[in-house]
Amino acid sequence: MKTLQLLKQNDDKPHEECGVFGIIAPGRAVARYIHYGLYALQHRGQESAGIAAWDGKDLNIRKGMGLVSDVFDDLNLESLKGDRGVGHVRYSTTGSSSRNNAGPFEAENGLGPLVVAHNGNVVNAPALRTELLELGIKLRGSTDSEVISHILALAPGSNWPERLQRGASRLRGAFSLAILTTKYVYAVRDPYGVRPLCIGQLNDGGGWVVASETCALDTVGAAYEREVEPGEIVELSEQGPRTVGRLPHWNTPDHKSALCAAELFYIARPDSLINDRSVYLIREELGKWLAKEHPVEADLVIGVPDSGIPAATGFAQVSGIPYREGIIKNRYIGRTFIQPDQQMRRRSVQLKLNPLRPILEGKRVVVVDDSIVRGTTTKGIVHMLRTVGGASEVHLRISAPSIMHPCVLGVDTGTYEELIANQLTIEQIRAYVDADSLGYLSVKNFVQATSLPKNRLCLACFNGSYPVDFEYQPGGAKLALER
Ligand code: SF4
Repeated sequence: MKTLQLLKQNDDKPHEECGVFGIIAPGRAVARYIHYGLYALQHRGQESAGIAAWDGKDLNIRKGMGLVSDVFDDLNLESLKGDRGVGHVRYSTTGSSSRNNAGPFEAENGLGPLVVAHNGNVVNAPALRTELLELGIKLRGSTDSEVISHILALAPGSNWPERLQRGASRLRGAFSLAILTTKYVYAVRDPYGVRPLCIGQLNDGGGWVVASETCALDTVGAAYEREVEPGEIVELSEQGPRTVGRLPHWNTPDHKSALCAAELFYIARPDSLINDRSVYLIREELGKWLAKEHPVEADLVIGVPDSGIPAATGFAQVSGIPYREGIIKNRYIGRTFIQPDQQMRRRSVQLKLNPLRPILEGKRVVVVDDSIVRGTTTKGIVHMLRTVGGASEVHLRISAPSIMHPCVLGVDTGTYEELIANQLTIEQIRAYVDADSLGYLSVKNFVQATSLPKNRLCLACFNGSYPVDFEYQPGGAKLALER
């Protein structure tokens, strides 16, 4: 048995990456649409937010640290004039958390400004950064997104579709991009479609929108049209979307596409569609398969709010065990709450989640969660269900397979050393979190539940089969290997 190393974070979930939004709506002030769109995507990143808009003469751009509500107000939205624009919310998976790394990023080289909002992680960004520095390009931050903006702007070509085609063909890894130019908005998705990206039309027909998730289309009153296909470059004009390029696959013959599995079980909002399927219903399906794979005798099923709840309802439907709400989530804890000292650290799980004793007392409880990353929060939840909730038995069921490998494609899952499933056996994890039983959904049943072929999903954090080559750096997890 390897030693379980000190777990660095109190929060114990994969961390979301970024959210992007773009809109072209001739004659309208788009900053408020983008503002709403970013609110809808806030779950994908809470470190910084930014909006850029083009008013026919000037590029108007504002970005800052914090939530969308921290960065924008009536006054500064008013100053972001323009009828086309892009927006970005960020969680740092490359580069530190600083204003210089806040998106979106602007670059220019002869065709007017290009502004890029990026979601994902480009693993060959360090090599591309070196190349840019050697060309004398000044980079303000340390993020791959800034590198992407310059690589696209500097690519050869007499128009943007040519430059986007050539520039994006050099990127390796995950990238879903919303791009603003003086004339059009572009949507670009990497050839494996790792991160979601979708297109919609404003309901009154007055404009077109690209967004990380369909929930953002709903929020701005746009009807979902379709996904941007893996490898597709789409130009959005007032006439609608037009495919202007296709990016070639790099050398990974076992993957046709590689949609991130974590989007399905945890990251995306349950009211979004991915691959034209409801994320909520996929999660419910995961719970149904989990109930078939790991049955147990119990009195009730509960879910860990929020992302464990759809799977818990699915588990209840198949097992016949009644579903109840057993844990209440405190929705008013800001992102910036002060890290607890050692004495209060134990209690910080209960600050966010509190068990319902009248429901749980004396009951054999199945608790369904979507994942275990480091194990600390899970241990706290099981402890709380027994001590505060009074549950007589706690059976833990996880609606995703064990996370054994770190993500290099834009989700912060922690390093090999931090991933409890990489360090301990399932029985050791059960003992560590002090559950009466523990069952993870198998990779095979996870794939069945998604109704997607295995070679269209990235399952790398379960099985280590990444759709891109990279070198692992202990403690760092991400480093490029350009082919
Ligand atoms: S490694 Fe995991 S989290 Fe990262 S893209 Fe693949 S499935 Fe998603």
